[in-house]
Amino acid sequence: MKNKIFKYLSLFILIIICTFIVSHEYFKTTISISNNYGMVVKNGSKEKKVIALTFDDGPHPKYTSEILDILNEYDAKATFFVLGKFAEAYPDIIKRQWEEGHEIGNHTYSHINTKKVSKDKIQEEYIKTQEVISSITNNNPKLFRPPYGSLDEKVIDVVENNNSVIVLWSYNQDSKDWSNPEVNKIVNTTLSNIENGDIILFHDYVYYDESHTVEALKKIIPELKNRGYEFVTISELINLTTD
Ligand SMILES: [Zn+2]
Repeated sequence: MKNKIFKYLSLFILIIICTFIVSHEYFKTTISISNNYGMVVKNGSKEKKVIALTFDDGPHPKYTSEILDILNEYDAKATFFVLGKFAEAYPDIIKRQWEEGHEIGNHTYSHINTKKVSKDKIQEEYIKTQEVISSITNNNPKLFRPPYGSLDEKVIDVVENNNSVIVLWSYNQDSKDWSNPEVNKIVNTTLSNIENGDIILFHDYVYYDESHTVEALKKIIPELKNRGYEFVTISELINLTTD
């Protein structure tokens, strides 16, 4: 009898351990693509109603401030992947982003295509940008987004050696706003595909007289808020997922 109880008890404990391992692995893969290179964040947990808004290529002297105003209005936090050269040109905007609780990530100094340059060049642009940002915020960014989402071993080596995390975006959430689509197109692309834990890719620096991203955000942010989403930074998204 004692033996039987022991047998069932062991089996029960084994099942509990297996369930834990499987669910843990599941959550791990929802935030990262498992590969030999460590963590690459593409989205957060599907279990929580959170969204990470991300903006690339800035700061822009006009549009970034307008975006910060909108974020402020809705008490939404976002993550800006900035270029070192523009951070250097517009330090006040970086300062404002930081002081208002947004996260700042490294997007290289001059928007190099990391696949086309040497590892030394990537390292140089990475470090230069870290230095520009930390000279303004007194804080070293922990996130890196390669221009064009270009990933290879050189990028991964540089980022891992510097204890940073590579951040891409959710496969369904490229707003393609860099190509200046109409406001409603950006709004529909974003809202019709939205899922819990999405990382949305926008651009605060665009080379047009009128950024459609700013107008689109005025519709997207309140609508997502109405649907019950909370806007978090990438670091918050990672912490929520790995908790
Ligand atoms: Zn970019």
